[in-house]
Amino acid sequence: MSDSKLTKAVDSICDQFVITKSKISQLTEYFIDCMEKGLEVCESDISQNKGLPMLPTFVTDKPSGEEHGITMLAADLGGTNFRVCSVELLGNHEYRMEQEKSKIPTFFFQEDHHITSKDLFQHMALITHQFLTKHHKDHIQDYKWKMGFTFSYPVDQLSLRSGKLIRWSKGFKIGDTVGQDIVQLFQQELNDIGLPNVHVVALTNDTTGTLLAHCYTSSDTSRAINEPVIGCIFGTGTNGCYMEKIDNIHKLDPSVRRQLLAEGKTHMCINTEWGSFDNELNHLPTTSYDIKIDQKFSTNPGFHLFEKRVSGLYLGEMLRNILLDLEKQSLFDLKKSLLKNNPFILTTETLSHIEVDELDSGLENTKDALLEAVDLETTFDERVLIQRLVRAISRRAAFLAAVPIAAILIKTNALNQSYHCQVEVGCDGSVVEHYPGFRSMMRHALALSPIGPEGERDVHLRISKDGSGVGAALCALHADTMA
Ligand code: ADP
Repeated sequence: MSDSKLTKAVDSICDQFVITKSKISQLTEYFIDCMEKGLEVCESDISQNKGLPMLPTFVTDKPSGEEHGITMLAADLGGTNFRVCSVELLGNHEYRMEQEKSKIPTFFFQEDHHITSKDLFQHMALITHQFLTKHHKDHIQDYKWKMGFTFSYPVDQLSLRSGKLIRWSKGFKIGDTVGQDIVQLFQQELNDIGLPNVHVVALTNDTTGTLLAHCYTSSDTSRAINEPVIGCIFGTGTNGCYMEKIDNIHKLDPSVRRQLLAEGKTHMCINTEWGSFDNELNHLPTTSYDIKIDQKFSTNPGFHLFEKRVSGLYLGEMLRNILLDLEKQSLFDLKKSLLKNNPFILTTETLSHIEVDELDSGLENTKDALLEAVDLETTFDERVLIQRLVRAISRRAAFLAAVPIAAILIKTNALNQSYHCQVEVGCDGSVVEHYPGFRSMMRHALALSPIGPEGERDVHLRISKDGSGVGAALCALHADTMA
């Protein structure tokens, strides 16, 4: 094993992860094409649709921050946690919230456990019951609870309160859920567990919730120039939404469109499902590691290919695959580490410790993180190279993450609405919130994108928490006022 050979191999891998300015422009233009295509066709099967899914959410108004009313329930099935909360909107951009978060048991992600939809939704109903017992003991049965349900997987939404699962992502693979109405499945289990007074009145996703929550909580009085325009998630998965002119959403049922326009509605929130951007691999940068993760280790080969290059579920897996490859070439020794037979064992959180570790300190944090996470012993020289790989992976992810944001800003002409227009992007998810430098790298890429450095200066990437709490509650309120 020669160190210089290993260094050369790492150099060459890092080169493959570089995203140039022209690549960002090309991807941004292609993203806009895919948005436009997605608004045209009404196609529930993404595999047949060359555009982005661009799913109508039936949310037509952005909150002002003055909404208030009864206490709502919100439930959120993410890729890692299931969360239940009760939210009281107080107006004046304020709210009161109780919440419980529980990790989704790993057997729900394992095919060989023969998990059915009933098992999953029963589990969620049980946790909801436990939440109400703990926080609202006196009103479990006698109160008509309205619930907003955040379900962040591709859904063919039929109305604000119903939608069919198109396909799972983020590791779930429960076959009998696909094609079923998610709200009915959950409502059935709530009824069966003795909570028929909990009504799931709104189905939403985490991006829509993030946008709504950001609009509600942002107390900027100069809202006219600091307009929240995009909601986005960079967590286990990635996705984004924005308000589109109803006139441009050609795929909407004509009678629904007419009715909305007659009611004076002008915009609807579109869930882009940008995790599926360029599943055809026309322009996305693709290394042999991307192909291997998609084909060999992911639960949905051929789908969510943008997500597999950007989101938290996959960045650690990227490093694992690179290290496996280096060992295969006899350039690196994985020794007795757990890396070999354990896909997804290396998390993005571990990468975040390596990213900011200091050479001066001998990369001791990296040493500890790798030992603790995967029992990998490393020399200092190896750690230097591993850190370079980590930085190449995260930089590519953050650069790609900027593409949809630039594209939406251009498509909606958001930066040119008024003189010195400033826009806000509400962001949620552990990667964008906690990965060191992720947002600065995104900003760097935005400046390289067609919006340029001047456009980049007018964009504010804000962390927006509680999309699946406050946002879902706002959705439930919206559903209530429309009923
Ligand atoms: P979800 O998207 O499932 O609702 P999160 O937003 O917490 O949940 O995202 C979880 C993902 O974020 C996981 O892939 C995890 O490895 C990653 N993650 C968790 N903590 C950090 C961190 N400090 N830095 C970077 N990534 C993190």
